[in-house]
Amino acid sequence: TGIVIAIDGPAGTGKSTVSREVATRLGLAYFDTGATYRVATLACLKEGVDFSRTSDVAAMVATMNVELVLDPGAPRVLLDGEDVSRQIRTDTVALTVSKVATNLEARPILQEMQRTVIRHELEAGFSRGRGVCAEGRDITTVIAPEADVRVLMTADDEVRVARRAGEGADRMTVREAVLGRDRRDSAVVSFHEAADGVHTLDTTDLTIEEAVRAVISLAHEAQ
Ligand code: C5P
Repeated sequence: TGIVIAIDGPAGTGKSTVSREVATRLGLAYFDTGATYRVATLACLKEGVDFSRTSDVAAMVATMNVELVLDPGAPRVLLDGEDVSRQIRTDTVALTVSKVATNLEARPILQEMQRTVIRHELEAGFSRGRGVCAEGRDITTVIAPEADVRVLMTADDEVRVARRAGEGADRMTVREAVLGRDRRDSAVVSFHEAADGVHTLDTTDLTIEEAVRAVISLAHEAQ
């Protein structure tokens, strides 16, 4: 069966870009687990679900109709058949998503969904069983602790904010969407320190290409 590469870390570490590129070069599926939290948030926003009613949020998560396309060349998220890949990246979603991530009724449902996606991908799916590169906050520790390669990507806070600001948007919103979100997410998931057996990759002074090569060389060592 295929290889599983698990990559965790906060926003702005280059995690998504690196994971996509690694998946592309190794012929793996690319699984952005953050997209599952984001699409759940969007579904709640669209239906006007009150985020303080944790059971209502969990019910929405359990019944939402989501499809993920794991092609690293064109990853997509569909909600009720509509491509919402851009809608899940808005500031509104980024500033709200922690309410779903820290909802202890909704989170286990999404986590089980993620394990199912990985299991399915190892049998068939986009990569035809070659494997999957999955990224998030708790992949190396909770979702796929048995992964062949486990990496925690880090970078200095200011560098992370600057990277996101470089993508547009005003700096205060970006600060809040990056550092504020980390702080809120930290209530339920720890992604600032590497667990046992997890390699830390500090990308503060690395180019994307250097980070990609570092992960690929870990993948070669693991095989
Ligand atoms: O990776 P991304 O920034 O898109 O993740 C969006 C949000 O999803 C995070 O801020 C966090 O609230 C949640 N998340 C999580 N666990 C994961 C991946 C994402 O709690 N494995």
